[in-house]
Amino acid sequence: MDFDYDDQNIFAKILRGEIPNRTVYENDYALAFEDIAPQAPVHVLVIPKGAYVSLDHFALEASADEQVGFMQAIAEVCKIADLKDGFRGISNTRAHGLQEVPHYHMHILGGRPLGPILV
Ligand code: 5GP
Repeated sequence: MDFDYDDQNIFAKILRGEIPNRTVYENDYALAFEDIAPQAPVHVLVIPKGAYVSLDHFALEASADEQVGFMQAIAEVCKIADLKDGFRGISNTRAHGLQEVPHYHMHILGGRPLGPILV
């Protein structure tokens, strides 16, 4: 499968500093920032700094350092946001997953009991 990355997507612009964001955490491989339209008291987006369009693109082609750095960023967000009671991580992927922004991102949602996932 070909993964074509569009460097004009909104998260690429955030990574280049062309659009402001409310950063929660950052390391060498990932940036975590508040979603502009939060669906829960905590709604953070964690994105890799590399040019990956989707979860499967990232899993197939990102280096081990990038993958570990990304997961560590998620863990740090959980600590910073005090998500000890739990949370949900969601990665919408392509058309069937209703992915809007074609730069891989993990939604971290929490801060209250969440409803069932609707399919
Ligand atoms: P998707 O449907 O691709 O999984 O979700 C994209 C998410 O990005 C949405 O929850 C949307 O609110 C968020 N989003 C879209 N544009 C911006 C933006 O400019 N800044 C931030 N912080 N979030 C955005």
